[in-house]
Amino acid sequence: MSFDLTILGVNAATPAFGRFPTSQVLHVHNHHFLLDCGEGTQMRMADFDIPRHKIQQIFISHLHGDHVFGLPGLLFSYDLNGRQTPLDIFSPAGLEPMIAAQLKPGGYLSYPIRFHVVDTQSPNLVFENDSVSVHSIPLKHGIPTVGYVFREKPRLLNIRSEQIAAHRLTIPQIKAAKAGEDVLLENGQLLRNEELTLPPAPLRSYAFLTDTMADDAVLPHIQGVSMLYHDTTFCDDFAENAALTMHSTARQAAELARKAGVGQLICGHYSSRYRELDRFLVEAGEVFDRVMLGVEGSIYHC
Ligand SMILES: [Zn+2]
Ligand SMILES: [Zn+2]
Repeated sequence: MSFDLTILGVNAATPAFGRFPTSQVLHVHNHHFLLDCGEGTQMRMADFDIPRHKIQQIFISHLHGDHVFGLPGLLFSYDLNGRQTPLDIFSPAGLEPMIAAQLKPGGYLSYPIRFHVVDTQSPNLVFENDSVSVHSIPLKHGIPTVGYVFREKPRLLNIRSEQIAAHRLTIPQIKAAKAGEDVLLENGQLLRNEELTLPPAPLRSYAFLTDTMADDAVLPHIQGVSMLYHDTTFCDDFAENAALTMHSTARQAAELARKAGVGQLICGHYSSRYRELDRFLVEAGEVFDRVMLGVEGSIYHC
């Protein structure tokens, strides 16, 4: 079962050095979730073979242009392709009138868009389906901003095939074992669930935190996540700019990742001041060694 991230855009503010503004696709089981939609998102989807028609939910962190200016183009393309599946868009308040102003003059769309306003003051469950839950977390940035945490839900256990044959298990007994129950055979023998099933795979999780100052207030919400993507707009040389513009340095993000005990930290939202990115890895790596650069087109397995 997949739980993979593809980064489509990783630059801050403006496109530069071949890097695009923020967007990513998280692929969880059969679902594709779009996170932010900077300018050029649909071109990047084509570049990296993302099945854009499969996206049914879009999660927007905030309304700065480098996170939303790809939406009108994408939403218009869906209409031209005759999309009928509803699209849910989650974001802080204010997105709907922005989008309506650009799409309404073209007439009605072939599919419904459902806008969901996300509370930017307190953490909330904003979406869930059979395989994943998504919580929002308030972030510290110049305008109302939220991060999103995706957590895989427990799956049914895998049953050991040799046990089915050995005990001639019936379908109801197999179902019970997959749900974690012990099984009582007709002859009175009790089979403990651990004998019948394989140990469950660890549950995976992903936190998307950008744009933001590094803020300890998020720690309870991201503790132990498998993968964290965090704003690393600057390196140490522009730490003052990071504070002024309410962004983070690579070192600050790494300190947060260390305190939260995350599995992996991915750097991103790089300032156009930096053509080369090695330095982000070096400075973050001095604090937390499980760190990777966010690179467009790369796939990260949670
Ligand atoms: Zn930004
Ligand atoms: Zn921003």
